[in-house]
Amino acid sequence: MTTALPSQPDARGRFGPYGGRFVPETLIPALEELEAAYASACQDPAFWDAYRSLLAEYVGRPTPLTYAERLTAHFGRGRIYLKREDLCHTGAHKINNALGQVLLALRMGKRRIIAETGAGQHGVATATACARFGLECVVYMGARDMERQRLNVERMQLLGAEVRAVRSGSATLKDATNEAIRDWVTNVRTTFYVIGSVVGPHPYPRLVRDFQRIIGDEVREQMLRREGRLPTHLVACVGGGSNAIGLFYPFLQEPSVQLYGVEAAGLGLDTDHTAATLSRGRPGVLHGAYSYLLQTPDGQVLPAHSISAGLDYPGVGPEHSYLRDIRRVHYEAATDSEALQAVRLLTRLEGILPALETAHAIAFLNRLMPETNPEDLIVVNCSGRGDKDLATIVSAFEEAEEDVA
Ligand SMILES: *Cc1c(COP(=O)(O)O)cnc(C)c1O
Repeated sequence: MTTALPSQPDARGRFGPYGGRFVPETLIPALEELEAAYASACQDPAFWDAYRSLLAEYVGRPTPLTYAERLTAHFGRGRIYLKREDLCHTGAHKINNALGQVLLALRMGKRRIIAETGAGQHGVATATACARFGLECVVYMGARDMERQRLNVERMQLLGAEVRAVRSGSATLKDATNEAIRDWVTNVRTTFYVIGSVVGPHPYPRLVRDFQRIIGDEVREQMLRREGRLPTHLVACVGGGSNAIGLFYPFLQEPSVQLYGVEAAGLGLDTDHTAATLSRGRPGVLHGAYSYLLQTPDGQVLPAHSISAGLDYPGVGPEHSYLRDIRRVHYEAATDSEALQAVRLLTRLEGILPALETAHAIAFLNRLMPETNPEDLIVVNCSGRGDKDLATIVSAFEEAEEDVA
């Protein structure tokens, strides 16, 4: 990596060959309207002032960069820091994006908000932003996910959102996304669709990235203040890829910084029960964009599997597909059981219970740390807290006949 990367995406919303707009004709005007509104917001300092003061006073930013002293001692080299997105209001990084998009909806005069959700985290973040501004909120969620994440369903309802169960297909995130797109086509004049990750048609991957880059911007400043130099390694889990690109983006042009995205291998990369899109997928079209995709040889989308609902998605953001192909980011994978062990490791050594999604990034340290140098500075994005996963974690340990302790 010696040459500067071109500014991405291009005018057609492409990251290299990836991204674009693969949607029904009826949605093109809505995407053009959104693109114009976002372009005007980008020129308006008042918009970013409102966004930044919400992050400071409502989300609790900047989130700390915590030195993980005992985790560092465990590996015996380098210095490991955790970027504490788990301390954001609502417990994960998703609120950064939900608030940004809701501010955009207000700017566009749209007072009906729809969203899709898998784990329920994006639904909770969106319902929270809607409650804060008094907007109508409809969240589409797979019926199976609603069973797995009951607490989040109740949270969304308490926040005043209507949660609509989706029973088609595998009754998970990709099916909920299809329903949300259908709603948008029907109600496009009054409705703003808040997408939860750096996926979907242009301009979503770009604007979600822009609302999440605050993570990397803060890390840069915090690390310079604390250590007087840039980090050497950044690690983040990848579902759709928003917390990872948020951390990576301000460092893409820094060749000295190594970037690692960790996908969910599920039961293993060699099994059919995986969510490791960039390791196991091929490019194809899903939910409005061209990107890597888990699919059969004849192009049917394969169901993904991961113990963590937030990584259980057969697609990935188009910018990650591009960064994979040009080898700017290394994409790795961690299994369900590696993630579970990592939950225990971080909880025991640092008193921080990570989300199962986050635990995939922690698990990768087992492979990364032996290759690092004593002076290296490693930052792991602690994308969310694990309270929501406690029941899953406990029953997985019971199944493996291991004591939780
Ligand atoms: C949703 C979620 C993820 C995965 O989404 P990305 O868009 O890949 O960041 C990761 N961690 C947590 C805690 C989540 O809630």
